[in-house]
Amino acid sequence: MLYKSRSKSKELRTLEFLSKRMNLSEKDKQHYLNLSKGYEGEVAFDSLTEKLQCDCLILNDLLLKVSNTTFQIDSLIIVSGKIYFFDVKNHEGDYYYDSDKFFKIPQFEIVNPLYQLSRSETLLRQLLLNLKFNLPIEASIVFINTSFTLYQSPLNKPIIYPTQINRYLNKLNTIPSKLNEKHKILAEKLVSLHMDESPFTQLPSYHYDQLRKGITCFHCHSFSILVKGRKCICRDCGFAETVDVAVMRSIREFIFLFPDQKITTNIIHEWCHVIDSKQKIRNVLDKNFTMVGENRWAFYI
Ligand SMILES: [Zn+2]
Repeated sequence: MLYKSRSKSKELRTLEFLSKRMNLSEKDKQHYLNLSKGYEGEVAFDSLTEKLQCDCLILNDLLLKVSNTTFQIDSLIIVSGKIYFFDVKNHEGDYYYDSDKFFKIPQFEIVNPLYQLSRSETLLRQLLLNLKFNLPIEASIVFINTSFTLYQSPLNKPIIYPTQINRYLNKLNTIPSKLNEKHKILAEKLVSLHMDESPFTQLPSYHYDQLRKGITCFHCHSFSILVKGRKCICRDCGFAETVDVAVMRSIREFIFLFPDQKITTNIIHEWCHVIDSKQKIRNVLDKNFTMVGENRWAFYI
């Protein structure tokens, strides 16, 4: 049973919005690609674990802290006799393993995921001890991408390759498990300790004036939006939605990027760019927010 679902991190969402509206540096672009690829891999793994039929609790995406050290768990599954935890890697292409090191062919060394895994496992064990839960932990790295190959792969390391994932989960599914109240308390406790914001967030600085204004297509992110009557239509992919929905989506994006900025008709009108009439913007704001103040000092909360 899914107990905690995954959602995009604030960091990834911010980069997603910014990448449309400004030129990211090469470093930020790469970071955005890595985060987004990692997220895709995790979601792909979630779609497999959600099919588990055994009595289990699935907790996706936990950011925890023990003894002032932060660690992340991509996916954690509690069954009655054990805790399974998975570090999901969406690496693609050819890699090789040599003397405890991982390289992308031809010769680019990457952080050894086995070290990361063992660090997280130790920290999780410590946290469980602090919480007075004494369940064995089985930690594994899952290479989810079917285009991943590891040459000279080591035997007897906790690695699940793309060709083994289904078999591994089928086996897990057949392990007899009967959860009790204690397991539920553990899941509850872990979720309550989950931190929403990572201390390692790397975001570029940005300013309202430097961001491109306009409504973007929900489907293909294009700025090429045609307003026709009550509809916003994407010139690139043909996706259509009502002006109200498109404006609300843009307002949410604005609030997300500028949480401290006051929402006024003028600023949202400028932000949406393609909606000629300020009255249309005012109508959406009136419908969805509360106006404070009057006339040109009015803003919405
Ligand atoms: Zn489109």
